[in-house]
Amino acid sequence: MNALKTNISLVKNVSRYTIQENALSNFSYILDSLNISKDAYVLFFVDDYFKSNSLDIEVNREHSFVFIDTKIEPSTNGIDKILAELKEQSISPDAIVGVGGGATMDTAKAISNLYTNGGNAEDYQGWDLVKVPGVYKIAVPTILGTGAESTRTCVMTNYRTGLKLGMNSDHTVYDAIIYDNSLSKTVERNQYFWTGMDAYIHSFESLSGSYRNIIGDSFSEKSIDLCKKAFSSGDMMSDENRSLLMIGSYLGGCAIATSYVGIVHPLSAGLSVVFGTHHCVANCIVMRAMEEFYPDYYSEFWEFVVKNNITIPEGVCKDSDDQEFEKLYNASIIHEKPLTNALGKDFKSILTMEKVKQLFLKM
Ligand code: NAD
Ligand code: ZN
Repeated sequence: MNALKTNISLVKNVSRYTIQENALSNFSYILDSLNISKDAYVLFFVDDYFKSNSLDIEVNREHSFVFIDTKIEPSTNGIDKILAELKEQSISPDAIVGVGGGATMDTAKAISNLYTNGGNAEDYQGWDLVKVPGVYKIAVPTILGTGAESTRTCVMTNYRTGLKLGMNSDHTVYDAIIYDNSLSKTVERNQYFWTGMDAYIHSFESLSGSYRNIIGDSFSEKSIDLCKKAFSSGDMMSDENRSLLMIGSYLGGCAIATSYVGIVHPLSAGLSVVFGTHHCVANCIVMRAMEEFYPDYYSEFWEFVVKNNITIPEGVCKDSDDQEFEKLYNASIIHEKPLTNALGKDFKSILTMEKVKQLFLKM
């Protein structure tokens, strides 16, 4: 049986969004506009970069902040721990705001679902397991590319099962996105590139697969167009290019909600599970081995790297032994849907153990 669904499901998108300069210093107005009650308790999850580089957040409702350490990507245990600590303090929010990158926005999504659905994070890893809507949630991206603000998942690693999988559910979709172009100014250049490329990679993987539909294709094509403009200009972090990437990220997230990724993401997940490499830099490392699968996007990607003078780690598997290659193979090949999308249902006859080892050796 084909592993891919051949119909477009009833897709849910984020229903409200706005683009505003200095949105956080005017957050009460935004909460008013979203009809969040004056009595509401607002819980902010904030990337811990902003702990020492404080944000000017103005909010005239009862609220508190949880700072998210992004050194390690979200895990099911980590999410359960944060929730337990919040409950210990008797915090019961009416609205949740995720201010940060994919890691922080995903943490906010997961906690929102758990508050109303009960249980543990791992209970909802999979498709359509979340039963009821989470706490009302608002995304405020501060780094752009993953599309976590617009997708229906929140990625978590489960160290017990070895599974890196999110709560894929309509209930995981944010209720509102607040875009403030000034927030991404301070991102370190390499990190900005690696994360930005996630939107480009999501989109070209969808466009290159066998599971296509006109809605997904349209999102992907426009996302690629915006990424190309932003990364070929030579000044990828100008005000204008950050605003192009902001929308490229949003559209890239919408694209994968109606389609599947391809070969890059499964191999990238292999690096994340075996070495703990963060998602976006792992994707860029995988691009070292992608010439035979995506020749045009491969060339363009490396032109962007040179143009923006970006560092992509190299030789990451040079000391790996057979046991480690087996782990890398297993953690990659498990992603049946994107690999079927890219290579057909017999993908394992193309991606043999030896072939996958050769690909990792190119990284
Ligand atoms: P991140 O959230 O891990 O942040 C990356 C780094 O940028 C961190 O060091 C952070 O402190 C820093 N940072 C963020 N904003 C900053 C700012 N304005 N100024 C200075 N530094 C800033 O990065 P990411 O690449 O956005 O997200 C990766 C995560 O997203 C992974 O956990 C991945 O699994 C997940 N992801 C989720 C989806 C989804 O659909 N939900 C899609 C792709 C990836
Ligand atoms: Zn991605």
